[in-house]
Amino acid sequence: MNYLNKKTIEDVDVYNKRVLMRCDFNVPFDETGQISDTRRITESLKSIGYLTDRKARVILCSHLGRPGGKFNSKFSLRPVANYLSEILKKDVKLSGDVAGSNSKNLALSLNEGDVMLLENVRFHRGEEKNDAEFSKQLASLAEVFINDAFGTAHRAHASTVGVTEYLPSACGYLMLKEVSTITKALREPKRPFVAILGGAKVSDKIGVIHSLLEKVDTLVIGGGMAYTFMNALGYSIGTSICENDKVSLAADIMASAKDKLVKFIIPVDNRVGTEYSPNTEFKTVQSDSIPEGWMGLDIGPKTEVLFKEALNGAGTVIWNGPMGVAEWEKFSNGTFAVIKAVVESDAFSIIGGGDLAAAVKKLGYAEKVSHISTGGGASLALLEGKDLPGLTCLSDK
Ligand code: AMP
Repeated sequence: MNYLNKKTIEDVDVYNKRVLMRCDFNVPFDETGQISDTRRITESLKSIGYLTDRKARVILCSHLGRPGGKFNSKFSLRPVANYLSEILKKDVKLSGDVAGSNSKNLALSLNEGDVMLLENVRFHRGEEKNDAEFSKQLASLAEVFINDAFGTAHRAHASTVGVTEYLPSACGYLMLKEVSTITKALREPKRPFVAILGGAKVSDKIGVIHSLLEKVDTLVIGGGMAYTFMNALGYSIGTSICENDKVSLAADIMASAKDKLVKFIIPVDNRVGTEYSPNTEFKTVQSDSIPEGWMGLDIGPKTEVLFKEALNGAGTVIWNGPMGVAEWEKFSNGTFAVIKAVVESDAFSIIGGGDLAAAVKKLGYAEKVSHISTGGGASLALLEGKDLPGLTCLSDK
């Protein structure tokens, strides 16, 4: 799939036009209700600025969480509208409905360079169904559509796909940056090319493993998914997370890596606990001898060294999914150690997935990673070579 020839925000006439722009403002919140990571919002500023500089009347829209097709104040985009008002230093009004009469009136009242935000598109039942009526309703608010929501590019919804039937459509700067950075790294990687995969499940990443095996020099596996591979090697893995129906597939993947001369590395030791809890008793054990009643919750110190060695001299690193339950302090060491190793390797580094992005931010290393993707699922789909409907539907140049 070639997405690099899609029309961009610079290829459509936006001057003085009403422009509907789909963003990914699906941001995380802390316990006090504050946005805990504003990156998805700040990353959209380049496109917003381009539009307001050209006197466009900007109508932003996004989803937030999974409200299930009806209004739920818990998923309101109010905090995002407030934050946008603050950083844009202008009043960003939030509509009271999604593309209804209130949105229409607000859109019509916009002056040159004004910005408004529609309420959560997933408050409407038509959004996730890619409903034609709802798509038409959304499109009727504007004259041009820009998709800057890389994080939802792998979903065919009304505000990402349906709306493009009715408006001239192009991608925004964030979409362009994400797609070109990841695509170029895959097509012309500086070698050695190392991929690191972690997170909970092998099943989520089978496609991407197969695709990366064709391209990388080294594949490093950590996190919960590593235990299915250890099981395939006949190791006792205690009560570690394991997908029993994927054990033979894990064996096939390791055999395929051998055939393709891809270095395949899994943990040699692990931090294990007796229960799945941040306060569990814990110790470090070798991978081939996890005791009965103990579960692997992070890679161990020897593995940290092993993974660091694998990254030594790397030219390109692509990483998705944490090395353990990084959101718990006791089991964050492995992920933090690998983040440091990636940064110190001087490789061109691409990191995807919310948990990993949060860990990088916690370490204060966000500026040291070459590219932190705003889309976990979308970046995996792109790595896998899958169709991204939100991009496919945009016109070619
Ligand atoms: P994913 O969304 O697939 O990237 O997975 C991220 C999740 O994997 C995080 O919430 C981690 O807590 C979880 N995870 C990572 N390592 C383990 C492990 N060893 N056991 C259980 N869950 C894990």
